[in-house]
Amino acid sequence: MKDCVSAGLYALAGRLSKSRLGSHGGLLNSGGLTYNRLTMRAAFLTGVRAIEIRETPEPKISRDDDVLVRSKAVGVCGSDLHYYLSDCVGADKVSYPFIPGHECAGVVEAVGKAVARVRPGDTVVVEPAVSCGTCDQCRTGRPHTCRKLLFLGHYGELTGGMAEFVLAPERNCVPLPAKMTAVQGALAEPLSIALYAAGLAGSVRGKTAGVLGAGPIGLSVMMALKADGGGAVYATEKVEARLGAAVKAGADWTGNPDREDIVAEILARESLGLDIVFECCGEQSALDQAVALLKPGGTLVAVGIPIEPRVSFDSSKARRREIRVQNVRRQNKCLEKAVGMIHAGRVKVDFLATHFFKLEEAREAYETAAARRNGVIKAIVTP
Ligand SMILES: [Zn+2]
Ligand SMILES: [Zn+2]
Repeated sequence: MKDCVSAGLYALAGRLSKSRLGSHGGLLNSGGLTYNRLTMRAAFLTGVRAIEIRETPEPKISRDDDVLVRSKAVGVCGSDLHYYLSDCVGADKVSYPFIPGHECAGVVEAVGKAVARVRPGDTVVVEPAVSCGTCDQCRTGRPHTCRKLLFLGHYGELTGGMAEFVLAPERNCVPLPAKMTAVQGALAEPLSIALYAAGLAGSVRGKTAGVLGAGPIGLSVMMALKADGGGAVYATEKVEARLGAAVKAGADWTGNPDREDIVAEILARESLGLDIVFECCGEQSALDQAVALLKPGGTLVAVGIPIEPRVSFDSSKARRREIRVQNVRRQNKCLEKAVGMIHAGRVKVDFLATHFFKLEEAREAYETAAARRNGVIKAIVTP
């Protein structure tokens, strides 16, 4: 329908060359009048617990390295829920409205003229962090902490994937092998964070690990550890339905901190303490458990995003055991690896995607994820 309208207006406008119209259509100007402003449907986060489906102008190829992606699968992330449930994240005030969605995969619709890595029709997962390439961080291999970092689906930064289309630079579009689905592509993003977090702990081979929190990130950490030869994995989670998922993800033991003293239970099995603990829920109680569980010289990897602006540690325990605390900022160059591991079958992520929603049901997707309703692990919106 849209194409017919374009074609009609193209004939009418006359003055426009076909190349300027592009394969995807665009604005048609005639005598100062603007016809056929192409719009798309997008889910806007408009306030706390408020999502509206709105018509908004389609993103357009404007740079030579732009890639326009038709969004096919977008995961609802725990970090999205922060913006959904509160207008404050840490010390940051959220500015609405914006289009969320950074765990995004889809099919390339159109490309800028210098793009060589992908072609229209290719399925890609979009690396959501767009770095500048020139600052001190970028130049020293840390694009994820780029001074001018722009993030997909983050308010005040880049338009996210909860829409029919999303625009990204070529370097941020990771092609998916033919066998892989867009949903698997969307799941590769949280897996990349898990791979990066596991990597920050040093070699995990044969090491005992605790994973506190069995949401999509915690579960992905468990799979990353097992794929890289990790030792026994002890998983804890308050949502009962996720304990079964932890076993699927490779946990050797699971416990619910609401029902049992998980520190005592784990130390009864690992009397020397654990080598590494991944805190994957952003809760003070879990940070305390992590310090209590670690052996001297152990590493606490703080993956979860706390809602409170400050967290604390038992300084005596942490100091005497010389606990290393490693913070994690998203991930760095791990998306290709995540795609490769899923493709090779080394990590089986499909069970993480438990609930699917149309774009119009985006609010339902967020509510389901926020309430951990119906055994949800990852809610996926399919625009
Ligand atoms: Zn995320
Ligand atoms: Zn930079």
